[in-house]
Amino acid sequence: MAIQIKTLDQLKLMRKAGLVVAQSLELMRAAIVPGVTTNDLNKIAIKILADNNAKSNFLNYHGFPAVICASINDEIVHGIPNDRPIEDGDVVSIDFGAIIEGWHGDAAFSVIAGTKDLDDQKLLDTCEESMWRGIAAGKLGANLTDISFAIEDYIRSQGKYGILREYGGHGIGTEMHQEPHVLNFGAAGMGPELKPGIALAIEPMITRGSPKTKVLADEWTVVSQDGTRGAHFEHSFAILEDGKPFVLTATDGGREKLGSLGIEISNLL
Ligand code: MG
Repeated sequence: MAIQIKTLDQLKLMRKAGLVVAQSLELMRAAIVPGVTTNDLNKIAIKILADNNAKSNFLNYHGFPAVICASINDEIVHGIPNDRPIEDGDVVSIDFGAIIEGWHGDAAFSVIAGTKDLDDQKLLDTCEESMWRGIAAGKLGANLTDISFAIEDYIRSQGKYGILREYGGHGIGTEMHQEPHVLNFGAAGMGPELKPGIALAIEPMITRGSPKTKVLADEWTVVSQDGTRGAHFEHSFAILEDGKPFVLTATDGGREKLGSLGIEISNLL
């Protein structure tokens, strides 16, 4: 299937969806303290969707029962919210998406509740920075796997982390998951050339140990086989007609982070 190329007007709707996602993730992040449950976080997200006249792309996705994925510690992605209180020191990963007028946004973050273990914090920092390095590599004229290489290259430079192999980023637009699949590892210089109108969700997922995972009996929750903790960060970004990127799910469009990596963002959105 071909990669969906978006017009400026379509990307403006994706930006609307992206801002709903950004606002929701900020509110959930602020709410993550020991004692809160992931069902509490799911309720926050439901309210913001309703307030913004947005739909959930997670709810009922292949039967998924919530509007967020909430994954704790050795759970890396696709966890189902529940009523178990978050404990001090837990690594909490939240993935969330929204649809505005048929156009999708998708983003995720990990955060430590309460007391921060330094090695856990480095896991999170490494995962987040690798996402930004991947987006920064997603330049006009680059090849798709330049993103993959940049993500892996940064993670490897930071220590012995496991990069999940079965899961990766994706195109995004009128569906949450579109072509192309974006690997979080591998050689540069392969895959389609990046051009204006492409929108991609970049989402590295790593563990403090092995990259091997298994899916729990709930048929959703992806955990590390070795029990080590995982992290997951995600942003959706697009390349605009001016050839510059814009991070649809970042409040500032990625201006600060991409700027620090020497990349100027588009001012078309
Ligand atoms: Mg995604």
